[in-house]
Amino acid sequence: MKFIRFKAQDDSIHKGIITDEGIDEIKGDIYGEWDYTGTTFAPRDISLLAPLEPNQIIGIGANYVAQEQDLPSELPEIPVFFFKPTSSVIGPNEEIVIPEGINQVKFESELAVVIGKEAKNIAESDILDYVFGYTVGNDVTAPQFFHQDGHWTIGKSFDTFTPLGPVIETELNPFKVNVEARLNDVEKQNSSTNLMIIPILRMISYLSNVMTLKPGDVILTGSPVGAELVGPGDVIECSIKEIGALENTFAEAKLGAKIR
Ligand code: MG
Repeated sequence: MKFIRFKAQDDSIHKGIITDEGIDEIKGDIYGEWDYTGTTFAPRDISLLAPLEPNQIIGIGANYVAQEQDLPSELPEIPVFFFKPTSSVIGPNEEIVIPEGINQVKFESELAVVIGKEAKNIAESDILDYVFGYTVGNDVTAPQFFHQDGHWTIGKSFDTFTPLGPVIETELNPFKVNVEARLNDVEKQNSSTNLMIIPILRMISYLSNVMTLKPGDVILTGSPVGAELVGPGDVIECSIKEIGALENTFAEAKLGAKIR
């Protein structure tokens, strides 16, 4: 099923499921008890929002190789993980605002895993029981704001730096998809998820042994080779064919947005 959040013409916010006939509105907790309201919306009458309001967002650093023979024989003992604030989330077609003082940021198209059940100390073989579904994420990054001592938090955390969408697909086989990005309609990224250095099950199992994962947690699983620096006016489309395309335009910061 394809779960969405959307705004109706009167600006009210709803949840729904995309069907061949339109959008069936639902109410309740998508990770628990929910039901159809009986109302159907036409796609032309709505605008998509990020398909969830994440509980927390965890990313993994540099997680793809260019080709299978480059995969390391031994995995790092401690993978590089980072958090992104939930305030950085935007939906499809919203602007990604480039912080004042710099003129370029990086796009990173990624498969985003949405956790559906509380998960603690879960074996790799059981991880999929705890996954609700999958969406596309753009892990926008301002490398100039990486701290000299190594932390990435600031460079990953600006408002608008985590576009998510367009839907949460619950039926996906995450091991058989390609993560793609098109910049101004030119392909820049297109890699199978089997080029991940730390595979999805290992990544989530590892995290669950550190912290209790909760419904609504989003795990950004890393970006394929090909991410680039971009500037104001550039249009980025991150996509996974089986989920959909997430398009956003980069924009200059408005006056007053400067960090001091
Ligand atoms: Mg990333």
